[in-house]
Amino acid sequence: MEKVDIIGGGIAGLALAAVLDPARFDVTIHEQRPELPTVGTTLAMWPGARKALAELGLLEAIKAAGAVLESGALREPSGHPMLAMEGGGLVGVTRPTLLRLLDSAVPSSVRRERHRVADLPPAAGLVVGADGVHSVVRRAAWGAKSSARPTPFIAVRGVVPGRPSTQDVGEYWGRGDIFGVAPAEGGTNWYASFRSDLGPERVDVAEALEVTRQHYSSHSTAVQGVLALATPDISLAQRIWTAPPLSGYARGNVVLLGDAAHAMTPNLGRGACETLVDAVTLGSLLNVLPREEALREYNKARVLKTQRLRLASSLMGRVALAQTMQPVRDGLLKQVGKLVSSRRGRAKTPE
Ligand SMILES: Cc1cc2nc3c(=O)[nH]c(=O)nc-3n(C[C@H](O)[C@H](O)[C@H](O)COP(=O)(O)OP(=O)(O)OC[C@H]3O[C@@H](n4cnc5c(N)ncnc54)[C@H](O)[C@@H]3O)c2cc1C
Repeated sequence: MEKVDIIGGGIAGLALAAVLDPARFDVTIHEQRPELPTVGTTLAMWPGARKALAELGLLEAIKAAGAVLESGALREPSGHPMLAMEGGGLVGVTRPTLLRLLDSAVPSSVRRERHRVADLPPAAGLVVGADGVHSVVRRAAWGAKSSARPTPFIAVRGVVPGRPSTQDVGEYWGRGDIFGVAPAEGGTNWYASFRSDLGPERVDVAEALEVTRQHYSSHSTAVQGVLALATPDISLAQRIWTAPPLSGYARGNVVLLGDAAHAMTPNLGRGACETLVDAVTLGSLLNVLPREEALREYNKARVLKTQRLRLASSLMGRVALAQTMQPVRDGLLKQVGKLVSSRRGRAKTPE
């Protein structure tokens, strides 16, 4: 039996533990949280993540628990649509539901240790850094230069009661801020992102909600209505941090996955999806190949793809959160919107 220590029992750690063959690996998950979180917003599951969930045997349960993300729009702060967006059958699932289902897929042979890991465990087997953007494992194996980097933005988010109306769904792009509204399991998922000095380490949720209400006080009534329902117990607030670029995710007996490897800004909504794909890819390779070969193949399969997404997400963030370029950006978006709807109109016209 090969020993595997997984540092972090979030999406990455639980998904990997669920894939590793219990007949081949002696797995321990080290997780600092005493229990699974109960507050969390919706994560959209893109096709790659849905495939990974199917391999974990969880796709049907996710579909049953989640909400289908309908079409929406990129909107001005007033709510006026600039560009229509198709949901394309995307399934949204809240983080607590996803974690609960992943947790239920972990074999009973996996040991659970509830403590904060401060350094790499003694090198007896494979050490997996699944400990998120502030990864202790990444810092220990890749050095202090690989520490997480703060962005100037905070994210405040939550799920409030009541379904959103179709004409309010979408992402509102203002001057240096965004606000998202979408249906969620049992309510309306919302998120706000803007420049703020709060934090950087811990952000007080009540204070962040107050600042958010002030920040969005001239946005549409839909945005104000959502914020009026948000309370600290059903909201989250944090600074957005990213991982530095890495050219490989494995060093010796240490391997990274999920946010520990490639934490990106949330603008493409892909971090959790890519984390699931990492876990299924790494676990499946380790199950059938010798360790060194499996880690080499994992690097080949995942590094370039996720580093490109990390970059694309940050570029998308710069466009969405533009300040001085905002009028030009909105003008371009409206032109694209007109072009798309005239093409759709032509496509519907019978020959
Ligand atoms: C505002 C925001 C919105 C997002 N929206 C989306 C979205 O819509 N769609 C999407 O796909 N992704 C989204 N993401 C990204 C997604 O949240 C992450 O990519 C995902 O959570 C990564 O999972 P992970 O398991 O790698 O890390 P984490 O979720 O950070 O889990 C790490 C785990 O390790 C534990 N841990 C950390 N350090 C230690 C230690 N030293 N010892 C023991 N345990 C430790 C933590 O307690 C935690 O349980 C968003 C992120 C943010 C910030």
